[in-house]
Amino acid sequence: MRTRLVAGNWKMHGSRRANASLLDALLGGLAKRGAQPAGSACAVCVPYPYLEQMAARLAGSPIAWGAQNVSEHASGAFTGEVSAAMLAEFGCRYAIVGHSERRQLFGERDAQIAAKYAAAQASGLTPILCVGETLEAREAGLTEPVVAAQLDAVVATAGAASFARAVIAYEPVWAIGTGRTASAQQAQAVHAFLRARLAKQDAAVAQGVRILYGGSVKAANAAAIFAMPDVDGGLIGGASLVAEEFLAIIAAAQGQPAST
Ligand code: PEP
Repeated sequence: MRTRLVAGNWKMHGSRRANASLLDALLGGLAKRGAQPAGSACAVCVPYPYLEQMAARLAGSPIAWGAQNVSEHASGAFTGEVSAAMLAEFGCRYAIVGHSERRQLFGERDAQIAAKYAAAQASGLTPILCVGETLEAREAGLTEPVVAAQLDAVVATAGAASFARAVIAYEPVWAIGTGRTASAQQAQAVHAFLRARLAKQDAAVAQGVRILYGGSVKAANAAAIFAMPDVDGGLIGGASLVAEEFLAIIAAAQGQPAST
């Protein structure tokens, strides 16, 4: 039985003050709902400077925290980089790797992303590996080859068994921040494809790995997407910055009505 995960990706948003009130609202909302049902988890992935604030406010709470990127290097002369060991010192559980904004805007390639994934795991972090196709690729019928290549690059570096300690996020590029969500059926088809591809290497690991959907998930569409058998939660951008929205998405992952 896979545990559902809802992870927020704050991107480059926030301030100490805004974060404090968002966290207060999230923790308050979760407390009002009572104990978190077994089989679900939530997290926020925040800009590096706010990790200390997360550690101080979220330790012992039902919300885990993580980073949005990590260096593939362990240490050394890499100005501006942040290592996985440093993230672990701030209590991070997760590190997003291969987000499409990193791939598209910062030129990250599959081999580098695979190295980041391996570096995160080497320091005990759980990488959230993002894969996803552009609109152009989807329209050309290339969704499966694109996501397969992105997954295979990591399998080649870290091995299929490594996915026992990782999360995959399928994030179609055309759905990120656009308000255009993949249909539940489109998401399910790609999730099932990714799981089957991994299963060719390691069936047990493929069965256990959580595959999140990301791309304009909101309170209004979360339940339908999470109802799909191979969708194990969501990676949430914009809606994770709005407490009521994020709480409702968490509730959807927990199979609860949003208003509880
Ligand atoms: C994301 O940034 O990972 C994301 C899914 O963003 P949004 O939910 O805003 O589309």
